[in-house]
Amino acid sequence: MKISKDHPRYLSLVIRERMAAMVEEGIVSPTGLIAHGRGEAFDYLLGERTTPEADAAEKAAAALLLGAKRPVITVNGNAAALAARELAELARATGALVEVNLFHRSEERLSKVCDLVERESGIKVLGRDQDAVLEGIASDRARCTSKGLLAADVVLIPLEDGDRAEAMAKAGKKVISIDLNPLSRTTLAAEVAVVDELTRAVPNITRWAVELKGDAGGIADALSSYENEENLDAVMRRMCQGLKGSTADRSER
Ligand code: ATP
Repeated sequence: MKISKDHPRYLSLVIRERMAAMVEEGIVSPTGLIAHGRGEAFDYLLGERTTPEADAAEKAAAALLLGAKRPVITVNGNAAALAARELAELARATGALVEVNLFHRSEERLSKVCDLVERESGIKVLGRDQDAVLEGIASDRARCTSKGLLAADVVLIPLEDGDRAEAMAKAGKKVISIDLNPLSRTTLAAEVAVVDELTRAVPNITRWAVELKGDAGGIADALSSYENEENLDAVMRRMCQGLKGSTADRSER
């Protein structure tokens, strides 16, 4: 479908087209589209931009990744479709490993998503050979790699599901989430909860990582000055304002 660049929702429409094409290719699961739609709704309330709260969380996320011994970034179908290259750039900037973990897992899909990320990013990913399990999850979603997720001290989990996020936190890992839903179990399990759209959040975390790299004082300051709960409260207040604002706009028409 041809989308006019003048359309006020141009970017969102282009991304929707890409996600639909990725379902055809077997990268995104059909229910991944529903998760994407939920994200869009929250993003609307934030004005579809990186808020100051998101920027603060993104700076703390970069600091946490840079200070980690074994950082890992997990990638599922939606994340691969939206930001494979950007996630790999973040991995390069922070020395993190990238591991593919799917919610709706099949050998075929796993291999397709690994291929896509490797092709688009030029890095080697973990996940084809899942030789370990994450305690506390009964299903196939427990599967992970011993060199990657299982050994990680800090994990960045974009668009992850709540069970796995909680299991990672329980296993003692420091969790950084990227999830537009400030109420999701994933967000609540995170030590640093980034409430921002993935394609905006990831390049901004990379930008902070490049800026903070080698600056031990800057990394320590970024972490000590960041208050996750306060930050999340401010995000929710901002969403409530967004809702009130749009109601007022409508009554004025
Ligand atoms: P949980 O299982 O953590 O309680 P959930 O049921 O909302 O929460 P999922 O159904 O796995 O979790 O949905 C994935 C989450 O990802 C949604 O909360 C949605 O808001 C968020 N999301 C979807 N697309 C994006 C995106 N592009 N950027 C950031 N967040 C997104």
